[in-house]
Amino acid sequence: MSRSKARSVALAVVLVAAAATPSGGAPKPNQLRTSPPQRNIQANQVQANTSNQSGDPWAGPRRDMVELQIRDRGVNQSAVLRAMESVPRHLFVPEEHRDEAYSDAPLPIGWGQTISQPYIVALMTQLLDLGPNDKVLEIGTGSGYHAAVLSRVAGEVYTIEIIDQLGRQARSTLEQLGYQNVHTRVGDGYQGWPSEQPFDAIILTAAPPKIPQPLIDQLKVGGRMVVPVGSYVQDLMLITKTAQGIEKKTVAPVRFVPMTGEVQRKGPG
Ligand code: SAH
Repeated sequence: MSRSKARSVALAVVLVAAAATPSGGAPKPNQLRTSPPQRNIQANQVQANTSNQSGDPWAGPRRDMVELQIRDRGVNQSAVLRAMESVPRHLFVPEEHRDEAYSDAPLPIGWGQTISQPYIVALMTQLLDLGPNDKVLEIGTGSGYHAAVLSRVAGEVYTIEIIDQLGRQARSTLEQLGYQNVHTRVGDGYQGWPSEQPFDAIILTAAPPKIPQPLIDQLKVGGRMVVPVGSYVQDLMLITKTAQGIEKKTVAPVRFVPMTGEVQRKGPG
């Protein structure tokens, strides 16, 4: 149902960028070529109303983000939309980028890494087709934002980050905000999380040249994996594990930061 809809929406996208390149004069990543529809007057009204009711000054921008960047582009799973509306993205980005937290773009989070564009977080989450009891593995915790979104839609989230400082910071943010069903670990996600397998869904938010076999092994039959595969520009792929093997579907061209560690030593092939 929703999975096929999300796919058709994504196929219409020319080039989606999920993550900015590290700083230092590298070209800015391409973002969605499509602009969100202009509904400023209505959006401002929503903002004013929401802010007044909830006392949260970010509630209006967050609702606009969901309506204009996400729902209007075809993401329609209500649990995903609710999650995107509830998670305070501004608390996962560095303070100097807080004002841009709800903009239609990826943002730097330090150590050359980025938090993905909100639409990409929503699209990938929808593609996982999660249920409330599902167990999800994320490779690439980054800021912890996507893990928090997953935790509102699934039962338990396990997330691994290879950069020590980012992993610790994300753990502390998630703890402070009370996301108790998110379990964090610092390390290379190549080998997955063997003691917690099998998973109903696995998501990679950094791009491997080739899907690590241990991650496929840790997916349940019937489970879904969403992964950007490739080097500079990647294909966002939806993998479904079957009793016979795996089915692969290409969703859209994307650009994520590379998956580092063991996968790079294995090389493509
Ligand atoms: N999901 C994140 C975005 C992360 S960007 C968020 O919501 O903020 C991708 C992250 O993957 C980076 O933080 C990067 O350090 C991490 N990463 C790259 N290779 C990895 C690996 N082998 N294992 C675990 N994390 C990895």
